[in-house]
Amino acid sequence: MKLTVVGCWGAYPEQGAATSCYLVEKDGFTCVIDFGSGALSRIQAFKQILHINAVVLSHYHQDHIADIGVLQYSLLVQHSIHQTEGMLPIYGHELNREAFAKLSHQHTRGVAYNPNEALKVGPFSFTFLKTVHPVPCYAMRISDGDTSIVYTADSSFQESFIPFCEGADLLVAEASFYEGQDGSNAGHMTSKDCADIAQQAGVKQLLLTHLPHFGDHQQLVKQAKHYYSGDVLLAVEGFVWNC
Ligand SMILES: [Zn+2]
Ligand SMILES: [Zn+2]
Repeated sequence: MKLTVVGCWGAYPEQGAATSCYLVEKDGFTCVIDFGSGALSRIQAFKQILHINAVVLSHYHQDHIADIGVLQYSLLVQHSIHQTEGMLPIYGHELNREAFAKLSHQHTRGVAYNPNEALKVGPFSFTFLKTVHPVPCYAMRISDGDTSIVYTADSSFQESFIPFCEGADLLVAEASFYEGQDGSNAGHMTSKDCADIAQQAGVKQLLLTHLPHFGDHQQLVKQAKHYYSGDVLLAVEGFVWNC
């Protein structure tokens, strides 16, 4: 399983970059996790638009879905140019019916996932955990049968992350704030929260993402290393993890 970071900013993209967007690939199947602002532009550095097989969304905040509309336009144009047909499945929850309805378009089809059941997408199996966030949001554990990645999506710290992340090969965790700050009202975590989950769940590596627009990101790594004994990695566009 291969993970590529396409966008790692929280809230809004910095110049020339994107907010939340990740590629997960195996055996020629490409699944995109979240599709935030700037994602459509940046993803083309790694993947042709028509080669995306599925999109899975954690929640409907703009920094996770903003580019879905232009993704739909790009499919319209690309299929027209190449005279091809295609229907891209976009998986999302149904707790916001208005937002879910927008996932369906001429070449995309919104598919509701049931967060209480495993979801099969190509070679991957997804399981979900509701997060603590101002709108319904789901963390996801993605397994290919051998290895597993957990993506926290957006959340404040909750104990239930620990069993959910148990033994994962990689934890992709949102570090919107630095240790000592309190992101819990906004539904976000600090570097220490991420490290606490990683340590207690015994994950093999921790990747900090959904990065803040202030401070020095190396401090996030330093702080997390204080509480977690495994590798702490910092998300950046183009970062690739293979296992
Ligand atoms: Zn959010
Ligand atoms: Zn977010």
